[in-house]
Order: sequence, then structure tokens, then C-alpha cells
Amino acid sequence: MTTTALDVHRFFRATVTSITDLTPSFRRFTFGGDDLAVYGDPGLDQRVKIVFPTSTASLDAMPTGEDWYTQWRELPEADRPPFRTYTTRYVRNDANEVDIDMVSHDVLGPASDWIAKAAVGDDVLIFAPTSAHSGVSYGIDFVPPATVDQILLAGDETAAPAIAAILEQLPREATGVVALEVPHPDDAAYLPHHPGFEYRVGARRDGDRHSHLLTSVMDAAATLVPTGEGSDVEEIDIDTDILWEVPRTAKGGAALKSARLYAWLAGEAGAIKTLRRHLVSERGVDRRAVAFMGYWRLGRAEN
Ligand SMILES: Cc1cc2nc3c(=O)[nH]c(=O)nc-3n(C[C@H](O)[C@H](O)[C@H](O)COP(=O)(O)OP(=O)(O)OC[C@H]3O[C@@H](n4cnc5c(N)ncnc54)[C@H](O)[C@@H]3O)c2cc1C
Repeated sequence: MTTTALDVHRFFRATVTSITDLTPSFRRFTFGGDDLAVYGDPGLDQRVKIVFPTSTASLDAMPTGEDWYTQWRELPEADRPPFRTYTTRYVRNDANEVDIDMVSHDVLGPASDWIAKAAVGDDVLIFAPTSAHSGVSYGIDFVPPATVDQILLAGDETAAPAIAAILEQLPREATGVVALEVPHPDDAAYLPHHPGFEYRVGARRDGDRHSHLLTSVMDAAATLVPTGEGSDVEEIDIDTDILWEVPRTAKGGAALKSARLYAWLAGEAGAIKTLRRHLVSERGVDRRAVAFMGYWRLGRAEN
């Protein structure tokens, strides 16, 4: 029997079965559905797409065949159910359950609108791997060299679910720094403890977006790579291009066999661009050991 793309990655219909406020900003949505018995979880920062219904576009309007993206783009805008990117947090196939942690921020787009109003019984579609998925997942961006002395995990609240999953799955011997900026001081409790990591988690002060993130990464870098020499970094125009670079080999593995430091940076594109420039141009971190991802862009919708 031949395997099609939809056998390994497809849309799952999922119904909200519970909503739990974990901290002031992190809301856990537990989804149920018979379908979820075969929802796949390759692990780490596995990203998925969630399709949200709107007042003009129901979930049934979402094309779900192999050519779904082309067909979705051809729909008139009002008839297109919007989708946004999230991170699988936990999967319990035996119970047909999936958890996804979403930041409840100001209602600015379809996801934040849904997050603010969602109730038990509401449906979404999740485009995710199936349990038949094996081998390299291009939805995973944490791809460190086989040998690495220190790991830097940095981002804002949208990256926290991915950072949490990575911390839970790293071996106990791993060492490094977590630099995270969150909206509220009590959000620090969201991250699981890893014995080998130093936590530099701080709350944003009003109107001071990125300040904690930038300072904590730059301070950590001064300790982790004290004597590095900078190299040129190709600038990316974050208003026209997608800020996303995950160094890999042609087979999908890490671009380097070993590195002193591996940095994984995700969050608002402006901050991530500044941090990447700092690490590569000013601190001399090998760009093949830096994965950076603009998870969202201030003032711009995802699609
Ligand atoms: C790989 C990946 C994984 C992600 N994982 C998660 C996750 O697990 N949990 C999670 O909560 N988010 C996650 N995100 C971020 C999430 O996809 C975005 O925040 C998304 O844009 C929100 O959609 P929206 O419809 O509310 O806003 P959009 O329609 O996309 O944007 C509308 C406006 O809202 C602003 N905006 C978008 N996000 C935020 C925000 N977080 N805070 C303030 N303003 C914002 C935009 O700048 C824009 O002005 C992830 C993103 C990526 C790319």
C-alpha cells in the first residue's frame, strides 16, 4: 500500500473538553475526539496549525485534502477559516486527548478572539502529524548538534510551550540557560524545572516589550561565549520576509556535529532578529548552531 502525505500529516477534528488557566497568561485547552487516537507527537517544539471557525467561515469550509493549501488560498477571504501556528504540549492517545497551551493576549486576531471566547464543546481543526509519522519532522526546529556543551533557550511567552516541552525532553545531564520574557510575574511558574538549566525569566513592564528578553540573552551570552569574535550576518527584512532559519543537513539533522553553544530563539520577530545579530555578529556564535524563528510579528497578522 502506498503512503500519501495525508497518512503522515493531516487535519484532526478536535473538541474542547476542558480549559485550565495555568498562570495569568497561559491557558491550557484540552481537546478530545475519536480521531486523536492517531494524533502523532514527534516531540520537542513540534508545531501544528489550528483552524478556527469564524462568523462567516465554518470549519466545514476548510479544504482538507492533499491540495488543501492551494484550495484554501483560492477561497474568498470571508469564506476562509483562518489558521494560526501552535505547539503540541501533551498527547494522550489512549484517552484521545491533546493539550495545547495558548497565550491569552489582547484580542487582535482570530486566534486571540477564539481563545477569549472558547467554551467546552467548541470545535477546531488541528493540522498535525499522525502516529504513522516517523523519521525527521520538519515541524521540529530544535535540532542541536550531537555534542553540545551549553544550550540557550530564549523567547517570549509564545515560545514558552515549546521551551517547556524541550526542557521536559532533554536529558538530565543537559546544561544551559533559559531566557524568557512573560507578561506577568506569576507566569514564571509555567516552565518545568530542569536541574541543569539556569532560569532568567522576567515579566514585561508596561510599554517595555523585549527589554527583559534582550538583556537576559545578552547577559547569558557574555558568560556562555565570553571571548567569541563576531562574523557577518545577513540581515533579513522582517516586514517582507519570514524570519526563520533552522540550520540542518540535507537529511534534516543538525548542521554541525558538535558546538560549545547551541541557541534556540523564538518569539516576536523584531526581538529575535536583534538577538541573532548579537549572538552571531557580536559574540561570534557559529550561525550553524543558532536556530531562530519569528513566531509572530508586532503589528502583522500571521496570514
Ligand atoms: C512555530 C510557532 C509555534 C507557536 N506556538 C505557540 C503556542 O504554543 N502558544 C501560543 O500562544 N502561541 C504560539 N505561537 C504564536 C501564535 O501563532 C501567534 O501569537 C498568533 O499570531 C496569534 O494569532 P492571532 O489570530 O491572535 O493574531 P494575528 O491575526 O496573527 O495577528 C493580529 C495582531 O495580533 C498581534 N499578535 C499576534 N500574536 C500576539 C501575541 N502573542 N501577543 C501580542 N500581540 C500579538 C500581531 O502583531 C497583529 O498585530 C506560535 C507561533 C509559531 C510560528
